[in-house]
Amino acid sequence: MGGFGAWLRNMGMKMRMATQRFMMGRYGTDKLNNMILGAGVVVCLMSMLIPFAPVKLALTVLSYFCMGWAMFRILSRNTYKRYQENRKYLMILQRLKDREHRYYDCPRCHQQVRVPRGKGKIAISCPKCREKFIRKT
Ligand SMILES: [Zn+2]
Repeated sequence: MGGFGAWLRNMGMKMRMATQRFMMGRYGTDKLNNMILGAGVVVCLMSMLIPFAPVKLALTVLSYFCMGWAMFRILSRNTYKRYQENRKYLMILQRLKDREHRYYDCPRCHQQVRVPRGKGKIAISCPKCREKFIRKT
C-alpha cells in the first residue's frame, strides 16, 4: 500500500518537474490573459445560447480565437513583449476606472500626463520635457 502512495507522489513530482521544464523561459499567465480567457468563455456561452447560425458560427470562431490567443501568450518566449502588452492593458484599465482625471500624451515626448477633469481649457506642461500644450478637460 505504501508502495503505491510513494509511486503516486513520485509521479506527481515528475509531472510537476516536467511542467516546470516545459514552462521555463515561457511567459505564463497574467491579468490580460485572464481577461482574454474570461472573454473567450463568455463568448463561448453566448454562442451556445444563440440559435441564429451565422452569429453562432462567428461567436464560436471568436471564442476559439480568444483561447488560441491566450494559449499563445502563455507559451510565448517573447516575455518582454507579453509583459508590455499586459502593462498597456493595465494602463487602459486604470484610465477607464479613473473618473476624476483625464489622460493626455505629450505631443513632443509622448509622456503620459494626468490632469483633473472638468477644469475647462487649461495649459498643461509636460513633467518630462516641459513642453506646453492646451487641452480641454
Ligand atoms: Zn513631453
